[in-house]
Amino acid sequence: MSVLVYVEQVDGKFKKSVFEAVSYAKAIADKQNSNLTAVSIGNVADAELKELGKYGAAKVLNVSNDQLKNFVNQAYAAVIAEAAKKENADVVVLSNSFSGKGLAPRIAVKLKAGLVDGAVELPQLDGGKFQVKKTAFSGKAFALTELTSAVKVIALNPNAFGVKENAADAAIETFSPEIKSTDLAAIVKEIVRATNKISLPDAELVVSAGRGLKGPENWGMIEELAALLGAATACSKPVSDADWRPHSEHVGQTGIAISPNLYIAIGISGAIQHLAGVSSSKVIVVINKDPEAPFFKVADYGIVGDAFEVVPKLIEALKAHKG
Ligand code: FAD
Repeated sequence: MSVLVYVEQVDGKFKKSVFEAVSYAKAIADKQNSNLTAVSIGNVADAELKELGKYGAAKVLNVSNDQLKNFVNQAYAAVIAEAAKKENADVVVLSNSFSGKGLAPRIAVKLKAGLVDGAVELPQLDGGKFQVKKTAFSGKAFALTELTSAVKVIALNPNAFGVKENAADAAIETFSPEIKSTDLAAIVKEIVRATNKISLPDAELVVSAGRGLKGPENWGMIEELAALLGAATACSKPVSDADWRPHSEHVGQTGIAISPNLYIAIGISGAIQHLAGVSSSKVIVVINKDPEAPFFKVADYGIVGDAFEVVPKLIEALKAHKG
């Protein structure tokens, strides 16, 4: 019995959501009195792999293969499933990221495992059961899901568990499973980076704006506010539909679901489909000129006012604060 965690790398580096997944997997291993092994796919330097020990991985299986340099859903799922079999893992953990959402069900099928995606808490193991709390109905509710299969796959929501520092360096072991050509039928040839500097799904602070901004020419103040806070920028669906902002910024039921520590919503009404993707943010600040805007019902802090007056004042205050 052991726990396996998949550690997703981007350009040879791990993001915070990975350290969270490792911390979470380590906590499960501790509950079960078992060991935690991580599996990394792609070209990651040894020093970066060893870092995973800090969050509780005793060992890292390093799959360094040029064919797997870029993310390939089928092949990555096959490698992770092989790693789980090699380690005799009964729990496989990964982050519920873009790639995690594609990988988790594929891994579960390969391992004939039960799957919980969008987990927000550690499993409850009372009475020999294995139950995991997860978000349901696009974040509008929580569900306690019981897994009865021998192997369990858990995709953890980013920002749900936090990072816990633990032990020392991890031991690194080369792992070279056979890759079937059918698993490489669709491969990523090139990755074109969006201009957005802070990755939205991983951002701790997000400044988001909606149709209340009137047009794309008014996003300068949103970007300035975000830059001052070190925040990522997001937007509502109609804004990206109108091409005022890129689709990669669209949050909500049909966009990205995020759970940052701070979500500032400016000129966004708070329609249910928008809230579905942002309501698990830790603190929500709403700026809207309509005091009846539905967003105020879920806000921790609300400012009733014109964005074109409030945002420049916030920027001024932040600049004064920073000196
Ligand atoms: P509006 O509804 O037009 O609201 C603009 C807000 O700005 C208003 O509250 C107004 O009071 C305020 N405002 C105007 N001027 C100012 C000012 N000067 N200062 C301050 N405030 C001002 N939407 C999403 O966002 N994400 C989704 O994933 C999504 N998925 C959908 C899926 C389906 C199947 C459907 C049917 C809809 C979906 N929508 C989604 C659309 C959603 O229903 C809303 O239409 C949308 O969220 C509204 O965007 P908005 O708040 O930017 O615009």
